[in-house]
This record gives sequence, C-alpha cells and structure tokens, in this order.
Amino acid sequence: MSTATLYERRKNIVPSALGVFSPASAVSAQGAIITDADGREMIDFAGGIGVLNAGHCPAPVVKAIQDQAAKLIHSSFNVAIYEVYLELAEKLAELFPHHEKEGDSTKVMLVNTGAEAVENAIKIARQATGRQAIICFENAFHGRSMMAMTLTSKVGYKTGCGPFAPEVYRLPYPYYGPTQWHITEDVYVTEQIAAMKHFFQTQVAASQVAAIIMETVQGEGGFYPAPIAYLQALRQLCNETGIMLILDEVQSGFGRTGDWAAYNFANVRPDISTWAKSMGSGMPIGCVIARTSVIDRINGGTIGGTYAGNPVCAAASLATIKYMEEIDINAKGRHVGQIVRTRFEAMQNRFPSAIGDVRGLGAMLALELVKDGDLSKPDGDLCKKVVQYANDNGLILISAGVYGNVIRVLSPLVISDEDLMKGLDIIEAGIAANV
Ligand code: PMP
Repeated sequence: MSTATLYERRKNIVPSALGVFSPASAVSAQGAIITDADGREMIDFAGGIGVLNAGHCPAPVVKAIQDQAAKLIHSSFNVAIYEVYLELAEKLAELFPHHEKEGDSTKVMLVNTGAEAVENAIKIARQATGRQAIICFENAFHGRSMMAMTLTSKVGYKTGCGPFAPEVYRLPYPYYGPTQWHITEDVYVTEQIAAMKHFFQTQVAASQVAAIIMETVQGEGGFYPAPIAYLQALRQLCNETGIMLILDEVQSGFGRTGDWAAYNFANVRPDISTWAKSMGSGMPIGCVIARTSVIDRINGGTIGGTYAGNPVCAAASLATIKYMEEIDINAKGRHVGQIVRTRFEAMQNRFPSAIGDVRGLGAMLALELVKDGDLSKPDGDLCKKVVQYANDNGLILISAGVYGNVIRVLSPLVISDEDLMKGLDIIEAGIAANV
C-alpha cells in the first residue's frame, strides 16, 4: 500500500488533530535509513523525534527484545520483580549519579514515557520539599499529560484543554543568542539570575517553590541551549533555597549533545532528572533519577504504574546503553555535531536573510528560519516548504519552535558521513529552492 493511500486511510480513522510532522511513511529501517511504503530509501533526520541516537534496529537491541519477549513479557514490577529492571536501574545510576555527599546515593524509577517521567518528578519534588510551586520556562516542552502540558509553553499544544494545574509559574528561558549579543554572556547570566531572585520577591517566595524544571537544551521549543554559567548559578541558587533542580534530558540525553547528559557540560548535578526517548531505541521506556535523600522522602503508593519498567523495554534499554558504550555514542554525537554545525554556518552565510540563527549543542542543532534576517520575523512557511522539499527528495525532516520555523537535526548518531552530507545537501537545496 502506497504512502498516499496510507494517508488517505488515516483520514477516515485517526483524529485529524494528531499531528503530521513529516509526510513520510515507514515499513522498515536500519541505521539512519527508513524504507517507506513506496520502496523509497529515506535518510532519517528525525530519528523518531530524537529516539534513535543508536540507530534503527541495532542488532544487539533487536536480539535483547526477542530473547526477553520469549522469556517474560510482563509481570508488573509491583507484583513480581525481575532482574533486568534492577540491572538497568543500576546502570543508569552509574551513568548519572545525582548525589554529592557521602552517605547519600542515587535511585532510579522506570516509567513508560517522557511525560510520565515529568509527572513523577514533580510529584517527588513536591512531596520531598512539602512545597507546591513549580517554576518552568517559556518555549518549554515537557509532554502532553495534564501536569506536563501545564509546564509546556506553546499554546498551540494546549488551547482548550484547561484548567491547567495550579501553582505553575513561567520565566523566560535563558538563551544567550544574537538578540543578546550587545552584552556579554556573563552579564546576561547575571541578569537572568537577578530576574529569578526578583521573581521570588514579586511572585512567589523561594520558600514556597518545590522545583525549577528546565530542559538543559530545549527541544520542541527550538533547540535553545542554556548557558553553562546559568546552569551553575541556578544550581547554586537551588542549594541556597532548598528548591529541587529538575533537569529534563528526555530529548538531549544519551549522546545527542556529545555526552550522556547535556548537564555534564556544566559540571552540575540535578536533584531529580527525567529521561526517555533514546534510552530505549524506540521501545517505550523512560526514567526518573534522583538523590536517595530526596526520593526516599516521599510517601509509599504515590508513584508507580502497571507497565512501568516492563521487562522487554528494560532489556531493550540495557542493550541500547551497552551498545552505545561499545560504539562510543558520545564521540559520534560530537562528530555529527561538528559536521552539521559547519554546514549550517555555511548555509547561514549563504542565506543571511533566511537564516537568523544557528544554535544547539553537539548534534542537537537547528537553523532558525526568518524573513529579512530578522529574528522577530519567524518564517514558518519557509520551514514547511523545506520539510516538504526534503521529503520529496529523500530526507525525513521535522521542525521545531513555537512558531514552527526551526529546522532541527535529530538523525541517528550512527549515520554515515555520506548520508549526513547528502541530507544536509537536501536541506540546503530546499532553502535555495524556496527563498
Ligand atoms: N520532555 C522533553 C524535553 C521532550 O522533548 C518530550 C517529547 N518531545 C517530553 C518531555 C515528552 O516525552 P513523551 O513524548 O515520551 O511523553
């Protein structure tokens, strides 16, 4: 059945509000290539929305899924425990230690999705602190369940779905970009921290704030990285005020930025963190990681779920992480990032009025499309045309940004240089054809 026929069929049976981010289809996939319903081999720059850092169907992950499925698909971890959950949790705590002090340690709770990780992180922060207020940021995306949707910024994702959760406050995300370049990054960071302190005087007292939740590098909102100095100052501010720092690494984690965690670049540790996407190579699994001194302060029965940490998903995740270690996923992230950044900067030189900003961290990189070289004039139409052009020419591409005007790269990090360059050529040709 052709891609066009699949989309026709979809119209009759799937709600139209379920987004079409790219007009593609998929029958099978390997590495960074998807074979679609028309038999076309497409280069994949979407990676299932940042899920396939280790590539499509890595052999050891496929085998781990098959072996586990033949042994035990489900028992519910609350009912009958199994070793692969514990093995994965131990591995995650080793990769992402959250404790600083001697006598403390790190614990891990497995969940099914990024949104579920976020919901639980908020519940944990509130119970551990006995406080209610949560601070989040403009352009944030934390998921589509009720609390996660409240924390999500773009109104297009939530209009008509309220009332939203109370005691959620939003501040501008601290991105040091072209519109701030008239001041130094240090001055900018100092101003942003001062704004947070001012907020504690004018909106809600720090003593009432349970957590600040932020994406270390914003994903859906447009690939904005937070300055290293800001993350360090925020860590300090949280230490002084007893506020839990929750870093959402759902999209930025597992090699995407050239490290296991984007926060490692700032050499800070969150109190609580959230993960999903690439940790399972496409199997639905995520986790919340926290200091034991935080997570073991909460009440029994307040966290959990029937499927959370399902054996097949846990086995896939464990195999994914082992494979990532073998192939040095972080080195691959840095390598892909260097190639994409060099090409994106060259494209910006070639199309200065269409590309307003090139930004990101490691291989989490984006181009912001604008009119007249003006960042206050987002060009979502051009972005749609480039995505369509890409699809017509063999590249699966998705956008981002609250104005839908950001082209982002989330290709598998195992992509060959040749396919990466081909994909980048297609983006460049797509811009050239439409400006
Ligand atoms: N947090 C971030 C940073 C995300 O990018 C996403 C998904 N795009 C989520 C949370 C929600 O994850 P999920 O779709 O698995 O619920």
